[in-house]
Amino acid sequence: MLTHKINEVKEHVKKWKQEGLKIGIVPTMGALHAGHGSLIKKAVETCDRVIVSVFVNPIQFGPSEDFDKYPRTLEADVKLAEGLGADLIFAPSADEMYGEGQRLSNDTLTYVVPPFFYVNKLCGKSRVGHFDGVCTVVLKLFNITQADYGFFGQKDAQQLIIIRKMVNDLNIPIELIGCPIVRDDSGLALSSRNKYLDEKGKEDALALNKILNNIKACYNKGVNDISALKETAFQFLNEAHDLEYLEFVDKDNLEDKTTADDNTLVLIACRVNDVRLIDNITLK
Ligand code: AMP
Repeated sequence: MLTHKINEVKEHVKKWKQEGLKIGIVPTMGALHAGHGSLIKKAVETCDRVIVSVFVNPIQFGPSEDFDKYPRTLEADVKLAEGLGADLIFAPSADEMYGEGQRLSNDTLTYVVPPFFYVNKLCGKSRVGHFDGVCTVVLKLFNITQADYGFFGQKDAQQLIIIRKMVNDLNIPIELIGCPIVRDDSGLALSSRNKYLDEKGKEDALALNKILNNIKACYNKGVNDISALKETAFQFLNEAHDLEYLEFVDKDNLEDKTTADDNTLVLIACRVNDVRLIDNITLK
């Protein structure tokens, strides 16, 4: 069932809670693909009732980012989510989420601001304010749905670590379940933004996965010097690629690694034909 209204979600949740049912929330921005599908499946396996939110959250986009052109495919999203067993698809408008006519800035809205250490690196460096917007909307979704479990993809590894930190720091009563990255047959991590890529773009985008796999293979052969591992990336890059970062951090707390070890998470962000793509791999 599709609803656009917070109050309707709350009514369902109240009833489900009275029946003692366990509720799961899968937050998404829509344009659902098999990556989102894996989260929904896991939620259906784990919970009695599953809510999938579909909301292109304006406050997590910067002024020069792709908010307006972000793909919106609600009808297909409802079909996919319901087909996998979701009970409720919550697709609010921005006015419904933030109040009608509300100016979306932290002069007028209460924001969740994650710690500087966690946001001043990786994606947060180029996307200033992005994780404030993410944490704010995710906390609102947790509060609206009163979910027992929240499902997030490892694809957005920094996001998952920051949401874990928020849940821990603010004692939010929810259990987070991280789900592995889903890729297409060629190895490309599924993303709603892959829709922006033409055939050549998809080919060029494979460099991200190749770089990460190659780094892992070198690590497994005994190379743990990060500069040497980073060097191996260049053979996969050409003029179609604009590398934003390739970083080695601790998989639990995002601390920079000085040498690679089993707890290392390697993250990459790269523009391919001007489409910003991210991917990551754990070395263990
Ligand atoms: P998005 O709609 O891009 O905001 O993503 C919603 C959720 O789906 C996030 O928790 C993402 O990490 C997750 N997700 C997106 N793509 C994938 C993927 N390829 N594999 C696993 N999870 C994904």
